[in-house]
Amino acid sequence: MPRDLFIYNTLSREKEKFQPLVPGHAGLYVCGPTVYGDPHLGHARPGVVYDVFVRLLKDLGYKVRYVRNITDVGHLENDSDSGEDKINRKARLEELEPMEIVQYYTIRYHQAMAALNTLPPSIEPRASGHITEQIAMIQQILDTGMAYEINGSVYFDVERYNREHRYGILSRRVLEDLQTNTRTLDGQDDKRSPFDFALWKKAAPEHIMHWPSPWSEGFPGWHLECSVMSSKYLGQVFDIHGGGMDLLFPHHECELAQNTVTRGEHSVRYWMHNNLITINGQKMGKSLGNFITLEELFSGKHPLLTQAFHPMTVRFFILQAHYRGPLDFSNDALVAAGKGLKRLLQARLVLKKIPVQEGLAASDTLAEMEEKIYRALCDDLNTPVALAALFDMAGWIQATSDARKPIAPQDRDVAERIYDRVAEGILGLKEETAQDHLPLVEGLIEMILELRTRARSRKEWSESDRIRDRLSDLGVKIKDSKDGTDWEF
Ligand code: ZN
Repeated sequence: MPRDLFIYNTLSREKEKFQPLVPGHAGLYVCGPTVYGDPHLGHARPGVVYDVFVRLLKDLGYKVRYVRNITDVGHLENDSDSGEDKINRKARLEELEPMEIVQYYTIRYHQAMAALNTLPPSIEPRASGHITEQIAMIQQILDTGMAYEINGSVYFDVERYNREHRYGILSRRVLEDLQTNTRTLDGQDDKRSPFDFALWKKAAPEHIMHWPSPWSEGFPGWHLECSVMSSKYLGQVFDIHGGGMDLLFPHHECELAQNTVTRGEHSVRYWMHNNLITINGQKMGKSLGNFITLEELFSGKHPLLTQAFHPMTVRFFILQAHYRGPLDFSNDALVAAGKGLKRLLQARLVLKKIPVQEGLAASDTLAEMEEKIYRALCDDLNTPVALAALFDMAGWIQATSDARKPIAPQDRDVAERIYDRVAEGILGLKEETAQDHLPLVEGLIEMILELRTRARSRKEWSESDRIRDRLSDLGVKIKDSKDGTDWEF
């Protein structure tokens, strides 16, 4: 029997004990990226948070099905219902097939997530691979009278839904208030009300991605894919739906309305939302010049950064804050996180050198720390409290080593278990490996060869030979030719 796990449910605004539909199983759906640009800092937080959550569920003994979608159609420029499809727009501007854009950025996203040591989801469905199912759900919603067709597009009738079910229960918005506070934009589209949202859009002539449907040659609305794919892979009712707080409204609100019409009131049992990352106190945005891609972060190539940051440092930095709390990113905060992580992982090496004495009584300290860590993680994924306990353990190890005291075998085992199961297994923190430094090493070799080329251009042959011999001692072989200098390990 796994230990009790408590999750804050956005719907009830309370921490609730996790009670899965099927004992021992946990189904999780997380809204994934729209793949039309490089993965950035904003992608890192949900990536890491739900990864730790999945790892915790597995550690507690659950069999987890983790579904995270790839949005490759239907997400319009202004995040609601107007503007151009984000991928369509990129494809048009770059004169590429939309699926070339999708493929390129999906790979980039996977690479960044792997660098952050997040495990891949169990299923990663794409919206464009589920058009048939989306058309079927639209028909189902039309049949209930909760949607209407107009000029080849189909819209969800929010006002009618609100009369029967109440729209806004997830984000605690009241439709009447929204209506008084919103000015209707002129000539938007054919919607009856600005809060109605598209289930199907008739494609404009310049729109590259379109499919046949009973209503028009067109494409599905963005909110629909998650309702369709979550029910397809997790069932009509499932355990947990996660995503960023930026998706709460309107995306999840619309998803919930679609689900309610087709699957009943309680399609999702627990809604989880991670808070967003700010940069030096500001929201991240291209216009503010503080937009940082993960590649820029890992390479240090951004005006706001003084150095490259290892993905493990970024991961650790994210876990230092509770997932529902704010997290302000800055170069200095990341430098500090890097130091902290190093201290934590180095204590494990110290532990290995402390002599173990058979027959020595175990202290309660480590067992208490282990208990504290699990209690924190099971209390709505409180990673900062769990990390604080890990640092207490690191401090205990260092103090024991400094005092030149031996430790009991049980203590060593508990400490090793905490590193294995918690630090590495659940939090996913691991040592930087030699492989991770390869780009740095290659860059340094290139730089040294540039210095040697300059020495040669000044005819400083002895300096040039000295550099060649030193590199040779280090196992780097240089080959000069008229085209320049080549090297290999
Ligand atoms: Zn979604």
